[in-house]
This record gives sequence, C-alpha cells and structure tokens, in this order.
Amino acid sequence: MLAPQRTAPAPMPAPPARSADATPAAARRPDGRESAIALALGLVLGFAALTGLAEGALLAFTRLYLHRLTHVTSRVFWMAPVTYAALFAVLALPFALAGVRRPRGWWLQALVALLAFLSAYSVLQLATGLYPWARDLLAAGVAIRLATFASRFRPRLRRLVPRAGLALAALVVLLGIGSTLAARIRERRMLASLPAARAGAPNVLLLIWDTVRASSLSLYGYARPTTPVLERFASRGVTFEQAISTAPWTLPSHAGMFTGRWAHELSAGWRTPLDDRYPTLAEVLADNGYATSGFVANTHYTTAESGLARGMAHYEGFGSSPGDFLMSTALGRRLAWDRLLRTRIGSFDIPGRKNAASIDDEFLRWLDARPAGRPFFAFLNYYDAHEPYLPPAPYDTRFRSTTVPRKPLMWQAWKMTAPEVRGERDAYDGSIAYLDARLGSLLQALRGRGLLDNTIVVVVADHGEEFGEHGVFTHGNSLYLPSLHVPLVVVGPGAAAGARVAAPVTLRDLPATVLDLAGIRRSPFPGQSLARFWAPGAAAADGPLVAEVGQASGLPAFYPVAVGDMRSVFAGGYHLILDGDGRQELYDIRRDPAEARNLLPARGVRP
Ligand SMILES: [Zn+2]
Repeated sequence: MLAPQRTAPAPMPAPPARSADATPAAARRPDGRESAIALALGLVLGFAALTGLAEGALLAFTRLYLHRLTHVTSRVFWMAPVTYAALFAVLALPFALAGVRRPRGWWLQALVALLAFLSAYSVLQLATGLYPWARDLLAAGVAIRLATFASRFRPRLRRLVPRAGLALAALVVLLGIGSTLAARIRERRMLASLPAARAGAPNVLLLIWDTVRASSLSLYGYARPTTPVLERFASRGVTFEQAISTAPWTLPSHAGMFTGRWAHELSAGWRTPLDDRYPTLAEVLADNGYATSGFVANTHYTTAESGLARGMAHYEGFGSSPGDFLMSTALGRRLAWDRLLRTRIGSFDIPGRKNAASIDDEFLRWLDARPAGRPFFAFLNYYDAHEPYLPPAPYDTRFRSTTVPRKPLMWQAWKMTAPEVRGERDAYDGSIAYLDARLGSLLQALRGRGLLDNTIVVVVADHGEEFGEHGVFTHGNSLYLPSLHVPLVVVGPGAAAGARVAAPVTLRDLPATVLDLAGIRRSPFPGQSLARFWAPGAAAADGPLVAEVGQASGLPAFYPVAVGDMRSVFAGGYHLILDGDGRQELYDIRRDPAEARNLLPARGVRP
C-alpha cells in the first residue's frame, strides 16, 4: 500500500542566517548573477565615495581649522570619489565576474578586503605623523576586519550595499553640482556689486613667470636669444635692470606683490597661507570698479587656498584634466610623487600642469565673457619654467648643447655632473623661450581685441632659479642673486617708452605702482610707485631692499636655508646675506654680480 502522498509540503523554515554561505535560500535565488554585479557596483561606489569624502573632510579640517596649506583642489569632494570609482571599478571587474560564476564564492570577501585596504591606505596618507609601516599595517587590519564582516553579514550586504552605494554616489553628484553653482553665483554677485569704474580707466594685466631669473633672459644680456618678444615689447615701456624679489620662492613673493609687504610681515609660509590681515591689489582694484580675475598654473602655492585669490571675482587654479583627477586623491599623489616610479615609467611632468597656452586660453575665455564697460585686472601665473623643465617642441631642443641623458626631477641635483647640469639649463632656457613666444601670442590677442593700448602690462617673475652657482639648485634654498634677481617690465599708459632703470628696485613696490598708473590716488599699500624712477625730475633715492626665506626642512645641511631663517639686504651696491647659522656674506654686486668673492671671509664663506 502506498503511503498517502503529500500534496503541499510545508515550507522549511529558513535557518537563522549567520553566514551567507550557510544560507541556501539566498544562493538559490535566480538573480544571483545580477545581485553579484549589483553588490560589486555598490561596493565600488560606496568605498569610492567614502574614501573621497573622508579625504575631503580631513583636508577641509586642515585648511579651515588648522590654517595649513593642503596643495589639493577644493573640488576634492567630488573629484576624488569619481577618480576612486573609476579605479575601483577596474579592479573590481574580475571579482564581479567571479561572483557571476559562483555567487557564493570567495569573491566578496576578497573584493571587500581589496577595496577596504586601498581606501584605508589612501586616507591614511593624510596622517603625516604615522610611520609608513604603521599606515600599511593599519590599512591591512581594516581590510581584514571588513572582509570578515562581509562574510558574516553577506545577505544583508546583498540587500543594503547596492542602495547605499547609489545613495552615496548621488550625494557626490549633488556636491559637485552644488559647489559649481555656488562658485558661479558668488562670481555673479561680486561683479554685480562692483561700484562704477572711472571712465577710461586702464586695464591691468599682471603676468608672472614663475621661477624665471633675469640672468637667463636675452633682455638682460644673456647670450642665448631666449626673449626676443619681450625685448621688442619692453622697448615700448620701462625695463628694470635690478628688480629684486622679496623672497626666493612663490607664496611670499606673490603675496608681497599683492599686498606691498615684506615677507616677514606676512603669514604666508611653507605651510601657511596668506591671511586677510592686509588688503590685496585685487581687492583695491575691485573697490574701484575693476572686474578681477586670476589664472594660475602653480597649483602648489598660488591656488585659491593660498590666500592669493582674495579680491578676485573669478579664479582658476586646478583644472579638470585626467592628471587633476589623479592628483585630487591621496593615492594618486602618493604615486605621482614617487621618484622611482616616475623614473621607471619615464613620466616626469607634474600631472595636470597647465602650460602657458592653457593659461592664456582660460584668460581669453574669461576676457570675452566679462561684463562690458568695465576695466579688468587679470593675474596670470605661468609655471612652464619651474622644474621639471619640460618645454614643448620645438623649444625642448632649441638650446640643446649636450647628449647626456637628462635628470628632470633634479633629485639630489648637487650630485649632477657638469654636462647633466648643462642639460637642465638648456631645457630651462627652452622653457623661457616658450614663455616668450606665448607672450607674443597673448599680446597679439589683446591687440586684436583693441585692448592693448589701454592696458598696463607688467611682466615679472616671482623669483629666480639656481643651477649650482653657489652649490645649490632650484630655489627657496638661499638668497643669492640667481634666486632673487628677476625680470620686470612695465608697459602701458603712463610708463615711459624705452626707459631702462638701473637702480635696484623691490617687487614690494608693484601694487603701489599699479594704483599710481591706474590713476587711483588712495593707496593702502606701504611701498612707493616705481614711477619715481622714470618720472622727469623725480628723485630715485631708495632705502635698503630686503629679501627673506624661512628655514626649510628636508635639505642637505650645506644648503644655507637648512639651518635657519635667512635675510639679506641690498644697499649702496652691496648685498649682505645673513645666514641661518649666524654667518654673514657680503658682496659688491656692482663689481661682482656673480657674488663670487665674499668680502667678509673672516666671518665664514661657503665652499
Ligand atoms: Zn614660484
């Protein structure tokens, strides 16, 4: 006899799910493949958003509460998540495919471990106080814990992670749109609130060639024809033969040109931005009805976070190139600054570095869209002559004089051979020639718009560069003339055509000069107008000029700035340098412009 057949077997109660692999119901779902992909995507979006947002929050804390420079774009909140999402998606693909084949397999724990490690490793790059091995260990610990967690709560993750990932991605998109709109609204409001400008007020164009020393310009007698365009242009205005920057590096020098202050008066330092204690040139010009703007290629020390954007209605620093996305992430910066990696793959340029053509394009786009009927003030920072010196063709080979392989990263440059140094100088000269050619294009563009004749154009550098003349390289390392003597040309209404000023002048006087030429009588800047050097019958007697640099870390002990703060004074044709260790050097720079003979040898001279 057959046993009575059950027609409707009672469903088995689902066992309490402690682990996904012990949950047959979940594994038997027909949508296992789709859910593996959705889960992987959710993990990618979630980890990318959390990593980028965590980095953004730490950087905002550093800049806004610790008042320290971060050297990272303020758009990190959306650019970093986007970059991480792209990277994580590529890395997650093989895991997701494994999940499609075997939804219950090891892929989930492995993927969580990988993404958790990369996220923690990246965010911990911002914890500068930790030893690298401690960072790595901590990241590994986080990865193991989260992988274990994923294994235990697999069914819940399957439900929650795709939704959470999408929600975080939506938050990132909203942050991106919101911050872009906020910047546009701020610019419009600022332009709408400007007072009327004086009729016929001249425009002001401040062109700063970062890291260009005067002695490498044919304008100043250099044998190579590096600046034919500037030579022609300078003949229409005033050339200063002894312009001295207030500091041998970017931020305090720019800040001095914007505020008329010596470096020791300013908050601007290696790690600190310019604060709002003193008014800036842009603020004063905006108060006089100018549409103000800045376009900068030096993203280390001149972007908005540096404090130099104060008073600018429009300011462009970091761009949106793949390199900018890479550099928005801590992981990308970690890789990008790795000397061994860069050398191995032969990639020496700074990712995202804008060349002079890009800066000009940004400026001209803004110029054509600016409010009609207003004079403009535009500040353009060009970074092409900063190391690594990588001018575009044909300037890369224009002055090549050696066939030895180059060392563009200038790593331990003091160990370079003479031909290697020559190779770097050749490329540096090529970079200056490129800047000069771009100057010609820019002037042509202004002329074509009918703007050039009523524009005060200032061509200047923030500081120079050293190629071992005193045993040191690049800049910010000493106060010798190659670091401080910069080109300065002023052309436009009020500037005497063809004048050459031989007296030493300081860049600190630039804001007072600009206001003077623009016809703005009330100047809050402490310097004096340089027009006193070319105005008929004007006395050109001057007080001493000062240059300063704070102690810098990470340099060899024989670098003058490695042991302490430095100051130097120019007076009566002499240059007195006070070294960080208390030693003094004195040079007669009229007879000895190379500063080869220290007149105070008893007090110590550098080898
Ligand atoms: Zn600079």
